[in-house]
Amino acid sequence: MPIHNFSPEVQALADEILAYSLQRLKDDPPLDGPRTADDLFNEVGNTITAKGLGGHEALEVFTNVLAKACISTDHPRNLAFIPSAPTEYSNLFDLVVGASSLYGGSWQEGAGAVFAENQALRWISDLAGLPASAGGVFVQGGTIGNLSALVAARAHARGKYPNTSRWAIACSAEAHSSIASAANIMDVELLSIEPGADRKLHGDAVGVAIDNLHATSQTRVFAVVATGGTTNLGIVDDLTSVGAATHERDIWFHVDGAYGLAALCAPSVRTRFSGVEAADSLIVDPHKWLFAPFDACALIYRNPEIAKQTHTQHASYLETLRDDSWSPSDYAIHLTRRVRGLPFWFSLAAHGTDAYTEAMEKTLDVAKAAAQLVREHANLELLMDPELSIVAFTRKGWSVVDYQKWSDKLLADQIGFIPPSSDKGQAILRFAIVNPWTKISDIKMILDTL
Ligand SMILES: *Cc1c(COP(=O)(O)O)cnc(C)c1O
Repeated sequence: MPIHNFSPEVQALADEILAYSLQRLKDDPPLDGPRTADDLFNEVGNTITAKGLGGHEALEVFTNVLAKACISTDHPRNLAFIPSAPTEYSNLFDLVVGASSLYGGSWQEGAGAVFAENQALRWISDLAGLPASAGGVFVQGGTIGNLSALVAARAHARGKYPNTSRWAIACSAEAHSSIASAANIMDVELLSIEPGADRKLHGDAVGVAIDNLHATSQTRVFAVVATGGTTNLGIVDDLTSVGAATHERDIWFHVDGAYGLAALCAPSVRTRFSGVEAADSLIVDPHKWLFAPFDACALIYRNPEIAKQTHTQHASYLETLRDDSWSPSDYAIHLTRRVRGLPFWFSLAAHGTDAYTEAMEKTLDVAKAAAQLVREHANLELLMDPELSIVAFTRKGWSVVDYQKWSDKLLADQIGFIPPSSDKGQAILRFAIVNPWTKISDIKMILDTL
C-alpha cells in the first residue's frame, strides 16, 4: 500500500475531500435523518470488496448516501440530547490532527501536542478554582471520564481503608446513567440519594445517607458524585454543601459536569457552581457545550499523582517511558490515544477565552428567551426555570404517542430534531441549547408547530 506516495490520484482525492469538507463547513448544515440498514444496503450494497472501490467512488458513497443518513449534530435546530456546535477553527484543525498521525499517549512521542492540551485543561481547571497542581487528560467522553476518576478514587480509598470488603459510590437519584454504569463495571454498590424539593442534591441528605450506610453495613462509600448540570434538566447540585459533607467523612468528591461545567466561563451563571473548587476530580465535555468536535472530555484531578499511581500501565516495552514527564495515558483508562483535545485547544488559542464567554452567554440568553416564549405559549407549560441552557416543558393534553408523532414529523419535515424525554414518569419536551447559531427565530419556528 502506497502510504507516502502522493500520486496524482491521491492529489485528486485530496482536492475532493477538502472541497467537500469546506463546503460542509461553509453551508448551513442539512438536518438529515436515519434510514434502516436494509434500505442503505439496497442503495450501496457491500462497500468492502477485494479490489476496493477507489477513493473517488468510496467518497461518493459517503457523501451521496451515508452522510445523509446521519443527523447533523451542529444544526441550529438540533436541540436533542446534548447536541454539539464545534467552531469552524476546531473542525478545521481536526483535519490537521487527522493528517498528522500524532500519538497522544506519552510525553516522549507527543510532547508538543500534550503541552497544548494541558494548557487547555489549565484554563478549565483555573475556571473551576482548582490549585495549580491540578491536571488531567482528555478522554473520549464523560462516561470514560467518570469511570477513570472513580477508579482512582477507589484506589485511593483502598489505601486508606484497606480492610473494607465492599465499596459504594454515592450520588443523586438524578445523576447521569454513566455513574450507574461505572458502579456496574467496578462491581461496587450505588447509594442513590433523593435530591431535595429543589431537585438538587444537598449535603445534609448526603451525610445522613452515608452515615446510615456505614452504621448498618460493611460497605464504605469511597466517592460522592455531584452533578454540575443534569443532562435532562440542567439542574446543578448544591456543590458547596455536598463537597463539605463528603470531605467531613474523608471521602472523594467528584463533580460530573460533562454538560454543565462548560458554563464555568459564563459570569452570569458562575455562582451556580460555587463549591466546585473543592472537587477532587471533575469532568467536562468540550464536545457538548464548549464548541469542540467529538470526542473530547476534559478529566481533571486535584491531585494527579493519585490518578497516575492508579492508571499507569506497566510493561517491559513501556518502562522506557517511565520518568517524571506528563504522559496522558497515565491518567485514565486508555493507552494509545488520539490528541482529542487539540482541536479544542487550537480554537481556544486562536479565538481567545473572551470569545468563549461571549458564545456561552449567547446560548444562555437564547435559553432564557426560549423559556419566556414557552411561558407565553397557550398550549405549553414550562417545567421549571432553566438553570443553565436546557428548557423543558410539556404540551397540554398530549400523550406519549402525540409527543413522538410530533417529533417524528418535525424531523421528517426537516424543521428540527427534538425527541421526547420524560421527567418523573411524564413525557416532556426539552431544548438543549448549546449552539451559538441557534437563534430565537429557530425556537419560534419550532414552537409554532406546537
Ligand atoms: C453526557 C453526560 C455524560 C456522559 O458523557 P459522554 O461524553 O456521552 O460519555 C455524563 N454525565 C453527564 C452529566 C452528561 O451530561
